[in-house]
Amino acid sequence: MIPPTFTPRVFSGIQPSGGLTLGNYLGAIKRFVQMQEEGIQTVYCMVDLHAITVWQDPADLRHNTRELAAGFIASGISPEKSILINQSQVPEHAQLGWVFFFFFRMGWVQRMTQFKDKAGKNTQNVSLGLFGYPALMAADILVYHATHVPVGEDQKQHLELTRDIAAKFNHDYGVDFFPITEPVIEGAATRVMSLRDGSKKMSKSDPSDASRINMTDDADTIAKKIRKAKTDPDALPSEAAGLEERPEARNLVNIYAALSEKSVDEVLQEVGGQQFGAFKPLLAELAVAKLSPISTEMARLMADPTEIDRLLARGASQAREITVPILEKTYEIVGMVR
Ligand code: ATP
Ligand code: MG
Repeated sequence: MIPPTFTPRVFSGIQPSGGLTLGNYLGAIKRFVQMQEEGIQTVYCMVDLHAITVWQDPADLRHNTRELAAGFIASGISPEKSILINQSQVPEHAQLGWVFFFFFRMGWVQRMTQFKDKAGKNTQNVSLGLFGYPALMAADILVYHATHVPVGEDQKQHLELTRDIAAKFNHDYGVDFFPITEPVIEGAATRVMSLRDGSKKMSKSDPSDASRINMTDDADTIAKKIRKAKTDPDALPSEAAGLEERPEARNLVNIYAALSEKSVDEVLQEVGGQQFGAFKPLLAELAVAKLSPISTEMARLMADPTEIDRLLARGASQAREITVPILEKTYEIVGMVR
């Protein structure tokens, strides 16, 4: 239960570590837009300080940050209804992140799936930033006293750490200062898988462009990627249970269901018995119909980067009305002279 002192507030972020993918759209952004419409205060963030935990070309990072802002707005996030920010423009995120470094335990982070995936075998050679990422993510959320965080399935572990940090801070200082944030992992596609490998999640930083659908892909590229998506030779089943041992088939059906806002069973009633040769063009047509209005709008917004920068500057000053007092109070609790 959230104590009554915490006003409901939603926070979530996406890294400008590449272009937006269909996974980001279905797993995160669609839900962000719905929560914005529920009348709760919503804060959405381009987390550029997270992106640099792995190497980013400076020009690409600048471009990707603006394009991500355009992607948010084109998908329905309104800078009038939500606070839309770029993380490094609100310095309290990093400042609270530093305080949280001292509450995190090395062992907690070593267990994180994302760290293991991104570090690969060479854990001695990754940046300290990649290791410390969950402390900054906890700060992103808690510097707003956010009570709800919509994310994809892959972020569940990090959200648990955020709750642990809030509880440890409150306990160690004998306060009830940080809320115990609720993860919101909902929707038909909380884990969209790679088109090349049904055991790996779709990611914007995957070296293979064929593994994902980018929000900016044109109709031909989308159709080609879906045509080449890995599948098995069998026809589609008529019930969801028939997809259990078929990760690639299940992924394509899930994507279809999420895009068409139907349940998997409803989709299988329509397409059960079809071969992939028939189903894939249907999926491609649906994906193009849903994504092309968004990518067209993104391109229009990207033609005026000054306007995007203006919106982000305004978002940062709105955000700081929340974050400055919370950071100040944190410093006071910790014992810093103010
Ligand atoms: P990177 O490869 O750089 O980590 P990413 O594609 O994983 O990029 P993030 O910026 O790390 O994207 O995550 C942004 C949001 O999108 C998070 O809420 C995350 O859970 C969600 N998300 C990312 N990938 C998927 C996916 N394949 N399916 C559903 N949700 C996803
Ligand atoms: Mg990720």
